[in-house]
Amino acid sequence: MSTVTVIGAGLGGLTLARVLQRQGVGVVVYDLDAGPDARAQGGMLDVHEESGQAALRAAGLEDAFRAHVLPGGEALRVLDRDGRVLRTEDDDGDGGRPEIQRDDLRRLLLESLAPGTVRWGRKLVGVRPVRGGWHELTFADGGVVISTVLVGADGAWSRVRPLLSGAVPAYTGISFVTTRLHDVDQAHPEAAAAVGGGMLFALAGGQGLLAHREPGATIEVYAALRTDQAALGTEDLRGFLLDAFAGWAPELRALVAEADDPLVPRPLHVLPVGHAWPRRPGVTLIGDAAHLMSPFAGEGANLAMQDGAELAAALVAHGIEEPAAVAAALAEHETAMVPRAAAAAGESAANLEIAFGAAGSAGLVEVMAGHS
Ligand SMILES: Cc1cc2nc3c(=O)[nH]c(=O)nc-3n(C[C@H](O)[C@H](O)[C@H](O)COP(=O)(O)OP(=O)(O)OC[C@H]3O[C@@H](n4cnc5c(N)ncnc54)[C@H](O)[C@@H]3O)c2cc1C
Repeated sequence: MSTVTVIGAGLGGLTLARVLQRQGVGVVVYDLDAGPDARAQGGMLDVHEESGQAALRAAGLEDAFRAHVLPGGEALRVLDRDGRVLRTEDDDGDGGRPEIQRDDLRRLLLESLAPGTVRWGRKLVGVRPVRGGWHELTFADGGVVISTVLVGADGAWSRVRPLLSGAVPAYTGISFVTTRLHDVDQAHPEAAAAVGGGMLFALAGGQGLLAHREPGATIEVYAALRTDQAALGTEDLRGFLLDAFAGWAPELRALVAEADDPLVPRPLHVLPVGHAWPRRPGVTLIGDAAHLMSPFAGEGANLAMQDGAELAAALVAHGIEEPAAVAAALAEHETAMVPRAAAAAGESAANLEIAFGAAGSAGLVEVMAGHS
């Protein structure tokens, strides 16, 4: 019996594996991490009805997901650099865009899989077509595996993507520096009040402070800057950021000045909007491997899960034993995924220009008013 071989145990690969397994299709997932807890996943995700939530329904995990949703997490505040409030939205409790911690969501998916489905500590280092849509996969530990159906769910720097496309992620010119504040109501009350119960945006002059309230009185911070990547290699990253945000309201600067966790630079890269490739037998991509975009449409993880669920449905419907059936399933998946991702990537690129352009927070408020 054939098996689907997935590279990458991120949200996309795990959703794919779960939906396949529920339908009795064999699947193995390889991931370079040493184990499920090797890397803190971090951050809150806003799970959208038509994509992430639909995928969780297909995975039979909607109720379990609801149990992990952060109450009040849909609230939003947009401030200018002086701390003036330009827009607030309360969490109206309709649960339309529920927020969950990425760690919780990943664990939910992992625990739903049969033991041994994910092979940890297996880094793909080489892949080549052999015959009839089969591929030979070589791992860093020297192991070699032959796939009959191969899915690259291996994120931004995918090792599977070069089989299909020469596209390479390009730097957007914007980097995030991430950190966290803990015990915020007691230890950082001004910063906590500025952030409120959900998401904060404060954007001006091509930079910004973004933050998110998390369960356990924690705030996750993204300081965003238009900068070359080398500048973030400085030993005194906190000092560098405080200089960059000199003159901003003290309760906003506190998000950096009072940060409890290490400051970690995360340059934002993207694939071209509308990234596509000629159909090739036995292999496809999902999630960031297919359509890496900046986070300003809040769609990347949602799309990765939707891709995983829909590809699984296509493979179940067509079957995976015959090469022609696999070809039909992969074609169906790519035909739906590419335009869907192009729309989100276009929106994300446009939002990035607005947020980090001259208008800053005021521009963002205008975009939001257009959506409400
Ligand atoms: C700062 C930031 C904030 C974001 N916020 C949001 C948000 O609010 N909402 C949203 O929807 N999206 C958000 N995103 C986007 C989202 O994080 C990604 O789109 C999503 O994680 C993609 O999932 P994936 O499964 O495709 O890839 P990943 O989550 O990157 O998973 C890829 C997996 O492949 C493994 N892997 C990689 N290479 C190999 C290899 N060679 N061999 C074996 N395994 C390998 C990795 O270990 C990893 O487990 C954000 C992104 C960033 C950077």
